[in-house]
Amino acid sequence: MSTLLLRHAAILVTMDDHRREIPDGGLFVRDGFIEQVGPSDDLPGEADEILDLTDHIIMPGLVNTHHHFYQTLTRAVPKAQNANLFNWLKTLYPIWARLRPEDIRISTRTALAELALSGCTTASDHLYLFPNGARLDDEIEAGMEVGLRLHASRGSMSLGESQGGLPPDSLVEKEDAILIDSQRLIEKYHDPNSGALTQIVLAPCSPFSVTAELMRQSASLARKYGVHLHTHLAETEDEELFCVEKFGYRPVAYMERLDWLGRDVWFAHSVHVNHEEINTYARTGCGVAHCPTSNMRLASGIAPIQEMLKNSVKVGLGVDGSASNDGSHMLEEVRQAMLVARLRSGLRGASLSGDEAPALMTARQALELGTRGGAAVLGRTDIGSLAPGQCADFYAVNLNRLDYAGALHDPVAAMVFCAPVRVDSTVVGGRFIVKDRHLVTEDLPNLVEKHNRAAKRLLEGQ
Ligand SMILES: [Zn+2]
Repeated sequence: MSTLLLRHAAILVTMDDHRREIPDGGLFVRDGFIEQVGPSDDLPGEADEILDLTDHIIMPGLVNTHHHFYQTLTRAVPKAQNANLFNWLKTLYPIWARLRPEDIRISTRTALAELALSGCTTASDHLYLFPNGARLDDEIEAGMEVGLRLHASRGSMSLGESQGGLPPDSLVEKEDAILIDSQRLIEKYHDPNSGALTQIVLAPCSPFSVTAELMRQSASLARKYGVHLHTHLAETEDEELFCVEKFGYRPVAYMERLDWLGRDVWFAHSVHVNHEEINTYARTGCGVAHCPTSNMRLASGIAPIQEMLKNSVKVGLGVDGSASNDGSHMLEEVRQAMLVARLRSGLRGASLSGDEAPALMTARQALELGTRGGAAVLGRTDIGSLAPGQCADFYAVNLNRLDYAGALHDPVAAMVFCAPVRVDSTVVGGRFIVKDRHLVTEDLPNLVEKHNRAAKRLLEGQ
């Protein structure tokens, strides 16, 4: 039994069912779970570890619902800087084909280090290429050492160029092998229990890189074991055209045919969805990983997030792969989500005024997407808010800093409106991953040096 007491935070944001924000707040944690939340005076006076968080804000840990950790090795690649999705992919596939198991490990640590320093406590990653003996185990083992909760997606590509797909034939796998490995990973790593640190997700990459049969088989395997399903969907107009031409359906209708709609499914992007398709998401319980930075970076479009929320679609945030962002900063993603939603509202309501003008997304709504929203998308009821019984996953930021100067009349909004910061503490299951602005579980200078060496080798074609 171990206990942790945090007290005297300037404000503690619970994101609980009443959205309480508690001045002079604190938390009492036992064995990784929250036992009490409230004003500091109401909490127990003793614990194994006690931290005084005067001048800090405490927030529920951010949940990242879409990423490709390995892409941290190919950020800002010159030839892929100014390309749209399909050309960006075609430029990067040959570089990614050189990835080795140790590259998967290094890039996982780098991405998780960045995420932890930006307040993230749970990350979902989508790994869909396995060249040169790389396995999802490489990512999971490296992730465990950093200590964030990880929803590791066993991605896949099976539709190579010669079959009408986008990826080169050298990067696709045989479908039987994909399904056998998927089953092995679920049996080895998936933890369905409250407080799980590792879960497995099945995630064929996209409609343009796998066959309909693999989508169907993956869904049936996932449902046999009760694990979630994930893929990219309705990201660009190119993809929509590809689906209509090749399958005769728009992307969402294609998913419906494949039995890929349900509460156990979430889609990355969903930029190009119409009103009827949003209703389909709402009716079937599908979730959406909204990746605003990536959508802007690749000029994919602006996802209709306000319309989704109005229809009670589950929406979380994702930084997406670091070759299309090119960072893994969750607080920045929260800010981008708020800003781009406002831009869309403005564009749609330019001719309206007064009561008819579309409502603007607020800072608190954006934070909710990054916390409760992400938890719902991943199918977790034990994270996303600070309440008794929930996992002790949170971050703390010292408000006395240049970045927030002049904004302390509303510290919660300051976190979103002001420039994104690195956090002071990140705690996962009661364990400090970041403390005093430093990663506890990683030797950062050494990691960055190794990471840059690996990136150089990949780009130079060795
Ligand atoms: Zn992606």
